[in-house]
Amino acid sequence: MSPSVKGMRDLMGDELRWFRRVEEAVHRIFGAHGYREIRTPILEYTDVFKRSVGDSSDIVSKEMYEFTDKGNRSVTMRPENTAGVVRAMVEHKLLINNDPQLLYYIGPMFRYERMQAGRYRQFWQIGAESFGVASPESEAESLAMLFDFLQALGLKSLSLSLNSVGTPESRPAFNAAFRAFFDAREARFCEDCHRRIETNPMRILDCKNPRCQEALEGHPTMVEFLDEASKAHHARLKELLVVLGIPFTENPRLVRGLDYYTRTAFEVLSTDLGAQSALLGGGRYDGLVKQLGGPDTPAFGWAIGLDRLAMILKQLQGEAPFHPPALLIPLGEVASARALQLARDWWAMGLSFQLETRGGALKKAMASANRSGAKLALILGDGELEKGVVAVKRLDTGAQEEWALADVPEKLVTEGRGMKTV
Ligand code: AMP
Repeated sequence: MSPSVKGMRDLMGDELRWFRRVEEAVHRIFGAHGYREIRTPILEYTDVFKRSVGDSSDIVSKEMYEFTDKGNRSVTMRPENTAGVVRAMVEHKLLINNDPQLLYYIGPMFRYERMQAGRYRQFWQIGAESFGVASPESEAESLAMLFDFLQALGLKSLSLSLNSVGTPESRPAFNAAFRAFFDAREARFCEDCHRRIETNPMRILDCKNPRCQEALEGHPTMVEFLDEASKAHHARLKELLVVLGIPFTENPRLVRGLDYYTRTAFEVLSTDLGAQSALLGGGRYDGLVKQLGGPDTPAFGWAIGLDRLAMILKQLQGEAPFHPPALLIPLGEVASARALQLARDWWAMGLSFQLETRGGALKKAMASANRSGAKLALILGDGELEKGVVAVKRLDTGAQEEWALADVPEKLVTEGRGMKTV
């Protein structure tokens, strides 16, 4: 049998439990902010991404899982979810009355990336998008939610790296100045940057090549070329971040990998793991809805990689808490039927245990119980039934005791098996 596809892995055990904890925090915190969940299909027609993420981006030019389906249509497994969310908003006409629409998503994304540690070809993203509000206040609200979420998970050393990439109207002036700067030292830039100067000059600013980064020293910044409204927007957002106590630094080279950003672009940096690294990014994308055939609608959003977030949390906090359920082991036919009844009542009360249903010898059941990681085995034989008790064996110490059947719920709660959360 073949193994799983390269770059795609099975989620289970501790890693999955971290995923679940993060997801629970997302539903709780984003829900409290009035954001509603959306789940869009994994497959979209390819032009949804070509028209939004942009032909010149690495994602579209190199990384898409793009294929022709049996109906001869070009489809792509989503490399990100903003385009799909916008497509859905437009398709369902949810933006026509100008009401704000606050949405979030969690789900797998697909990029045919070069393999490296922590990068996968199927990975998960959590994202939040707000449509219909152009104000810096809506950005501040979204960022406040993001910081509340990350802090609720236990991340402490967070800061924002901030830039304004201007608007399609202000960009030509920047591009002209940047072109002159580039031409004066073009030999120092890599081949990719020579391509970018023709397709999307701003993208040169975040070239990963250290020689290009050196050559950029003293480059014209986009903030210098902002129109008055974008300048005021940028200043107001910074004011609001101060009010919120969200620390930030301005980074004139921050452009993000997608073509659709306007005005605010940001990343969240963390030093929780020592060296500073980017946890996530996002920004404003006022032109995208219209570009995808919808009404002219301002929007702001961001996406965070769940794989990386779960890995960081594990490194900082160890294993995700796990309480394997107790095991209820009936012996014989009469006890099995009675155990099913009891189990059903106890499950209904919110207690957490697993029922042994194989029948057969106690020894085999106990061996499985020991391997399962459970702390308690509750054994119900004919003798126990007659007395109205269960025999309880503590699997970690081997100690034995007896509980009256009527006391089982209370005892399990005391033992921590009367779980509200799993
Ligand atoms: P992007 O959509 O490229 O801005 O990425 C947003 C977040 O998704 C990043 O901060 C990463 O944590 C995560 N991410 C992007 N690509 C991958 C990948 N191939 N594997 C794992 N996480 C990824």
